[in-house]
Amino acid sequence: MKVPVNEPLISKEAKQYVQEAMDTGWLSAAGPCVQKFEEMFAEYIGVKHAIFVTSGTAALHLALSTLDLKAGDEVIVPDFTMIGSIFPIMYTGATPIFIDVEPDTFNIDVMQLESKITDKTKAIMPVHIYGHSCDMDPVMEIAQKYNIAVVEDAAEVHGGTYNGKRCGSIGTINAFSFYGNKIITTGEGGMVCTNDDALATRARSLKDLAHSPEKRFLHTELAFNYRATNLQAAVGLGQMENIDMFLERKRSMAQKYNTLLADIKGITLPTTKDYAENVYWMYALLVNDKLGMTRDELCIKLKEKGVDTRDFFLPCHSQPAVQNVFPSTETFPVSEDIANRGFYLPSGIAITDEQIEYVSDVLHDIANA
Ligand SMILES: *Cc1c(COP(=O)(O)O)cnc(C)c1O
Repeated sequence: MKVPVNEPLISKEAKQYVQEAMDTGWLSAAGPCVQKFEEMFAEYIGVKHAIFVTSGTAALHLALSTLDLKAGDEVIVPDFTMIGSIFPIMYTGATPIFIDVEPDTFNIDVMQLESKITDKTKAIMPVHIYGHSCDMDPVMEIAQKYNIAVVEDAAEVHGGTYNGKRCGSIGTINAFSFYGNKIITTGEGGMVCTNDDALATRARSLKDLAHSPEKRFLHTELAFNYRATNLQAAVGLGQMENIDMFLERKRSMAQKYNTLLADIKGITLPTTKDYAENVYWMYALLVNDKLGMTRDELCIKLKEKGVDTRDFFLPCHSQPAVQNVFPSTETFPVSEDIANRGFYLPSGIAITDEQIEYVSDVLHDIANA
């Protein structure tokens, strides 16, 4: 059997809306699905404003751009995340200030947060890794105390909650991704979410070349074209109509893996904190000493049996693209450790019970061999 790491499920509604969009001739960003998708997403997440853009990276850049960051400003960001969290900080000219993560949730370690704040800190970017919320109350309290913004990177957590509030609705201005492997996909795409009217207006303007409100084709500031198309929004609308079913499938996948893998001593299963509703974007595991082999050895054996996996992200501070601009010898023990030991199993919304059972059987065979 071959089990891909992530197979999406494209709903019949998405196909139907795309067909309708094609039939009406509305392909560009000016089409009617864009506003409908933004409204539906805003309502679901529980924010006043949602602004549809071309990618998660663009959404983070747009969100950060509304905060008027400049060279020398600092943005605190976890060392363990996808590089798509970091590059947007660098685009603004600001400096990413890395912070280590918790060993169990892989999210920003709030105990270390206050020690990272300086008079140059302009924003904190908590990243909700693999579908599990960060501990947001301490983040928001510290941000308020020092009067700095919070930009949630919610690219991996559509529908996940923190103490009942949806991730992506808590920070000052927040971002989602709709890349092909995300819980809601539009192929490529992203969303900026905020409750702040002024920041939303600014984001809408910067997204679309900052045409002056008084006079079209008059531009008073440097801006971007981050407009996503009506066809992408049509896909998003159809997928959003199915989000509850998608999340149910994610949860039952995780429950099944949790039950089937519980007796394997050599791997550490995902944790879920009381404050979080985990949406298991990816079912993420750590290899520990008891397995008797490394993560890389295990994943090669899994691959030989047709089970596709992905390694964890590499620590961002050590990425050449970051070191070239911000050389540093600082170390981040947790991030560096989990990057070596972590991987995720096939976790797509389309995964079947038979596939999960097969993956579990293969893992048992390897662990007991
Ligand atoms: C996917 C992802 C991004 C980037 O989103 P793109 O749509 O691929 O640009 C940013 N941050 C995190 C945590 C992600 O998982």
